[in-house]
This record gives sequence, structure tokens and C-alpha cells, in this order.
Amino acid sequence: MKFQPLISGSSGNCQYIETKETKILVDAGMTGKKIQELLEEIQVDPRDLDGILVTHEHYDHTSAVGVLARRYGIKVFANENTWMAMEKTVKTIPSGQRQVFTTGEDFHIKDLSIQTIPTFHDCVHGTSFILEDGKTKVSMLTDTGWVSTTMMEKMKGADLYYIEANHDEEMLRTGPYSFALKQRIASNRGHLSNHHAADVLSKILEKKKEHVILAHMSTDNNDPLLAVRTFREDLALHNIHEGLHFTMEVAKKTRPSDPFLGKEDQ
Ligand SMILES: [Zn+2]
Ligand SMILES: [Zn+2]
Repeated sequence: MKFQPLISGSSGNCQYIETKETKILVDAGMTGKKIQELLEEIQVDPRDLDGILVTHEHYDHTSAVGVLARRYGIKVFANENTWMAMEKTVKTIPSGQRQVFTTGEDFHIKDLSIQTIPTFHDCVHGTSFILEDGKTKVSMLTDTGWVSTTMMEKMKGADLYYIEANHDEEMLRTGPYSFALKQRIASNRGHLSNHHAADVLSKILEKKKEHVILAHMSTDNNDPLLAVRTFREDLALHNIHEGLHFTMEVAKKTRPSDPFLGKEDQ
């Protein structure tokens, strides 16, 4: 399996995943033109995509979903509540391309199996995805203010964790946002802080040289170097050491990060 973040952050999110038989995007939040350019840069023809999976209706995840789906005949997968909530952004999708999954239930696209987990976020019915192709497991988790033990159980055992490191708690507290917005981001229906996500990883990493990609990082309330240092230090307190037990990088905000390759593709 190949997993490549194309853009990541509050201004837009889109990840490309490829297995032997399947090519998908998770979210498409940016202009259609920009995503088309990003796909061109990684040499993927949008007509070859088997689907766009949607985590939730927020604009930074859905703004190009409709345009791309109509232009290239791509199927769109979302749960029923998200379909209703994103209708204004996504507009009409031909019924044959409109796919509905139930969050909490698994489904397949060709050789890619997809587990869907409900998130805790200020949207109607957020979903995070766990992807497996029989050889590689990727656990994705962004746009959630809380992570339950059930979620952690399902995420465990992955080769790659694509996990939200939205803000540094101190930077958010002292930063430029209004009190209300700060409250929203820090709430258990907002976004994961560096410390919170590191705590989650401390409970699920198995010291098997898993790879971690820090995602959905805020421009105003976080800093890539600070985030990496926080994760490194927090995890070291649990005797989980970067380099020895896991590797880590920060997803690039506006351009493709290097692809993560599953075992069979290395
Ligand atoms: Zn988001
Ligand atoms: Zn969101």
C-alpha cells in the first residue's frame, strides 16, 4: 500500500491511497484545480480514482469533492448524515456515484478494506478510516476532540498512524483566536492537541518501528518543530523512543509529502 498526504491542515486536506487494485482519495478540501495539479504532480490520473472517501462535511475536507466527482466520474463515499450536511458544498452527484456507508461498519473497495470509526467533532457525524490491504494497515485520525478506548483498540497494530497534531495547548491559549473559538478547538468535539495525540500514541504504539505522520497542524497555534519535540518527549516518558521504536514526520501543509510505502512496496 502507498499512502501519500497531498495537503494537510485547516486550509485543506486530501490524502492519496493506492493498493494493487485500488486508488482513492480521503477528503478533497481545496479547489478542484489545485487537487488536479497535486494529482498531476504525483502522476495520478483522476479518471483512475475508485472513490473519494469523506470524513465529514467541513469545507477543508469537501470543497473539491463535487467538482472532481462530476468532472471525472469518481464515486463519493460518505455516511447519510454527512451527505445531507455537505449537500450545499458538494451539490448534485449522479446517483450511480453516490455511495453511502454506515459509520461503525466495514466496507470494501476492491482489495482495500475500510473500517469506519465515529469521531468526536463539531460536525454532524464524523468518521475516521482504518485502511488495510492484507499486508499493510494504516490508521487515520484527524478532526476529533476525543479518542475513546474503543477507537484506540481499532487503530492498534497499524504500520502507519496518520494522526492529528492540531495545536500546542499553550500556543492556542495565548494565541490570536477569540475565546469562543479557542474553547471550540480545545473542547472534546474540537481537535487533538500535541499532548493529547502523543498520549493516544503512547497507548497504541507497539515499538515495531511504526511510522507516524503528524497531520492537520494549525498554522497559528502550532509549530512543526515544537510538535515533533513534544511527541518525542512525551513518548520517551513512556519508554517509546523515536528512531529506535518509531519514526515520525509532519505532513506538509500545501504540497505532497513523501509517500509512505507498505512492506511489500519498499
Ligand atoms: Zn479539518
Ligand atoms: Zn473538521
